[in-house]
Parts: sequence; C-alpha cells; structure tokens
Amino acid sequence: MPVTYRLAKDFNVAANIIRAQVAPNQIGKLVVELSGDIDQLDAAIEWMRSQEIGVSSSSREIVIDEESCVHCGLCTGVCPTEALTLDPTTFRLAFARSRCIVCEQCVATCPVEAISVNL
Ligand code: SF4
Ligand code: SF4
Repeated sequence: MPVTYRLAKDFNVAANIIRAQVAPNQIGKLVVELSGDIDQLDAAIEWMRSQEIGVSSSSREIVIDEESCVHCGLCTGVCPTEALTLDPTTFRLAFARSRCIVCEQCVATCPVEAISVNL
C-alpha cells in the first residue's frame, strides 16, 4: 500500500521518510516525520491503525556518554537533522536534543559505543 501517497492525498499530511526498512513479504518499519494540520494528523494516524499499521510516536531519547565520547565526529556524518555537530572552535561534539528525531542512525556509527537510546 502506498502509505505516504495516501497520507498526502487523503489527509494533506506530508511524510518525510527518515529511515525505511522494507523487504518483500516481510513486516517493514518506517521512521517518518509527519507534518500537517493537527486534526488531519490525528485522522491520518487513526486511518493507519485501521489498516493494521502499527503507529508509535517517539518518546525515546538519545543518550551520549560524555565520558566515553572521543569527539571523532563520525556520528555527525550520519545525522540527518544536524542534531549532532562538531563545534568548529573546540572540535568537541555538540548535541542539540531539540533537533533529534531519534532515528538511531548515529548509534551504530560510534566506534566507542558512546551513544545509546533511553527507552
Ligand atoms: S538519533 Fe542520532 S542521527 Fe538520528 S537525529 Fe538523533 S542525533 Fe541525529
Ligand atoms: S561517534 Fe561516538 S565518539 Fe565519535 S563524536 Fe560521535 S559520540 Fe563521540
């Protein structure tokens, strides 16, 4: 089912796909950022649930262990929202939590496992 097309056409909700894991004949997972009128968003989520699509809003948070971080900057290269950046003057990692969409792409990139997800 073309879910993002239906969201746009039927509910005027824009779906920005952050991460997609979809394989033929398997359960898929999409991480999306939805934007639109609040009532339309509620209706769109209700419609997805009626189609047996599991929907959960992200209440998880990224945690960075500052003791372990070596400020290599690898995680900044995969962060789609620039929540992770290297400070140009100190060359230390800066994390803007308000920009983080908990896509988890940074977690696997850290060579010292300094990034985790707080459930
Ligand atoms: S989870 Fe990591 S990569 Fe994703 S937005 Fe947050 S800081 Fe960036
Ligand atoms: S990849 Fe890990 S060690 Fe490198 S800057 Fe990011 S959190 Fe720090």
